Amino acid sequence: MVVLGIESTAHTASVGIVDERAKVVALASDMHRPAQGGIHPREAANHHVEVLPGLVRRALEDGRVRPSEVDAVAFAQGPGLGPCLRAGATVARMLAMAWQRPLVPVNHCVAHVEIARVLSGLDDPILLYASGGNTQVIAHARGRYRVLGETLDIGIGNFLDKLWIALGGTFPGGPELEREAREGTELHPLPYSVHGMDIAFSGMMTAALALRTKGVSRPDLAYSVEVTAYGMLTEITERALAHLRGVSVVLGGGVACNERLRGMVRTMVEERGGTMFAPPRSLCVDNGAMIAWTGHLAHRAGIAVAVEASAVEPRQRTDHVATPWRPAGPRGPTLPAAAAAAG
Ligand code: AMP
Ligand code: MG
Repeated sequence: MVVLGIESTAHTASVGIVDERAKVVALASDMHRPAQGGIHPREAANHHVEVLPGLVRRALEDGRVRPSEVDAVAFAQGPGLGPCLRAGATVARMLAMAWQRPLVPVNHCVAHVEIARVLSGLDDPILLYASGGNTQVIAHARGRYRVLGETLDIGIGNFLDKLWIALGGTFPGGPELEREAREGTELHPLPYSVHGMDIAFSGMMTAALALRTKGVSRPDLAYSVEVTAYGMLTEITERALAHLRGVSVVLGGGVACNERLRGMVRTMVEERGGTMFAPPRSLCVDNGAMIAWTGHLAHRAGIAVAVEASAVEPRQRTDHVATPWRPAGPRGPTLPAAAAAAG
């Protein structure tokens, strides 16, 4: 039994095929890289429309999967950029209709948690989700994933990308900034914006650009930004562990590819006697395999949507969607459907 999943929430179009034991049978991805500046939703959507049919074909060929062997088609319903989401949803609807298979909507953030959870073997980890558009600390409680803390302005990846472009680099900035930060030696103080469980980056952006104009070298600036920003993420993750008496943390999102962030979170979790797991990089960044795997879980729990009712939800929040495939767990009983719908 395999599920085909389509991811298209932002800059990456991706098709994954995953079997019922979470084995990634095939994964074909293509990232939109603007020649200059950040992502424009319409241009990214045009890219996805162009590449998705080829990615579907490649995934089926690579995985040696016949359409008749696909049990369901899953797609990222939200959150994300409207035009990009619609590009992926349109392809998913078409495949579901052509192959006469159920169409399964998946929340993108929940998919990051679920792929990390199954790969780690950890039953009830807290997720630090650090991506371009999203930065959240997520845990499961009472029938759904809850956002315990998040960025109050922009996602950490967008912050790194914007900063890097302002410093003369190109998109995506995170990996380049990581390379340059390795050469940094001097730590310059930057605004450390932690507000309870939430964080913010705009003050750091302003201060970092001001330091650059005062002559601070780019490697030192990259180093200072990484240490400060990842310190903030590590702190709110630790606070979540303490509040929930959690013992394990998984990472997700493109920024979770970063070695310094992985190291800082690992040190914090292990000092508390817990376990930290980061998926391989291809499954940390946006990918169709996590959509396919979460599609499996949802499909098995009876979730499917009619094509007419499958509108994308650009602002769909992590805690908007129920997770009937997860037992209520130690953090309280699953709410009855009506109560859950009322929030
Ligand atoms: P996502 O939105 O989850 O696909 O992640 C994309 C974001 O991850 C972009 O903002 C990238 O700059 C960022 N990113 C990717 N690799 C790294 C890295 N090694 N260090 C920091 N940020 C990264
Ligand atoms: Mg993502």
